[in-house]
Amino acid sequence: MATKTFNFSFLLISFVLLVITGCNNYKYTYDENKKHHGKKSFQNNYSHPEKKSFLKWQLEKFKNPVNHELKETTTEFIFPNVNSIINSNNDLICWLGHSTFLLKINNKIIITDPHLSSRASPFTFIGPKRKIPNLVSFSNLPQIDVTLISHNHYDHLDITTIKEIYKKNSKTFTLAGLGHKHILNFLSSNSLIELDWWENFAYQNLSFTFVPVQHWSSRVIVDRNKSLWGGWVIEYENKKIFFAGDLGFSKDIIDIKEKFGEFHLAFIPIGAYAPRWFMKTMHVNPFEAVKIHKIIAPKKSIAMHWGTFKLTDEPLNEPPIKLRESLLSENIPLDTFLILKPGQIIDID
Ligand SMILES: [Zn+2]
Repeated sequence: MATKTFNFSFLLISFVLLVITGCNNYKYTYDENKKHHGKKSFQNNYSHPEKKSFLKWQLEKFKNPVNHELKETTTEFIFPNVNSIINSNNDLICWLGHSTFLLKINNKIIITDPHLSSRASPFTFIGPKRKIPNLVSFSNLPQIDVTLISHNHYDHLDITTIKEIYKKNSKTFTLAGLGHKHILNFLSSNSLIELDWWENFAYQNLSFTFVPVQHWSSRVIVDRNKSLWGGWVIEYENKKIFFAGDLGFSKDIIDIKEKFGEFHLAFIPIGAYAPRWFMKTMHVNPFEAVKIHKIIAPKKSIAMHWGTFKLTDEPLNEPPIKLRESLLSENIPLDTFLILKPGQIIDID
């Protein structure tokens, strides 16, 4: 009952506060020649069922609390040695939980959807709390050359973390979809690079392309789909890396594969999928993550978007179990779709 009351009051307080803070100073500008630029907001490339009501999901949970066979356990984690990342001569990846990866490529440091705060929420006192400790303190965070933002949801775009990154290196580049200026207004105009789908930003010998995936955006009540969401393709030397962001399964994945061809690595979300009637359009489950892995066909995929924040109804530790089951059922070698521990560092070979 305590949880029920808590969930419900969280919902109520959030709603009231979001209405109060809802008059965010966004500006939607669009190009009528582009299919995904709607008159009032951005839209996905391919038609899909209407997103179901968040309130209906919460009310159903309140009436019929989810009973898991699998006991909730905490995710095993490691505190990474940040100096070993900074001083390494090899290209490497370090998972910092959820969708946050540090990548060291060609001696440049890139971070994806940086989130080092204690909650994935507009508020510091309420909302989904981090289930593992923050693995790198702000003071320990290396200087970041490029930050990649997939979209503006609170578990992906954390203002506090982006401010800290900028404080450490004012020459850092923050790459996001169109329509993020009002949210990231503390960044200089040189630092924030807004891209439309398929647009590209080159930095030294690295190239970053913003690519379409099926999702949505919103931070307050009135800004739904006013900023653009997507994934990223990083190209360097003869390698390509796909960072899928947050997504439901759609034909966009086939388009990305057709456009870029061979991939070396892919970061694919596997968590935040239950209940399916509500989540399916916007979040893949492990079975669909494997479908993306098969289409993109990288040498290796890396699982993300699980084990860090409890956002949905499945137990925190279920996504990797379901991922293994899906890989085995498709006869795909387990070592081609890696499940890292938060904090783990691996070389890009
Ligand atoms: Zn999202």
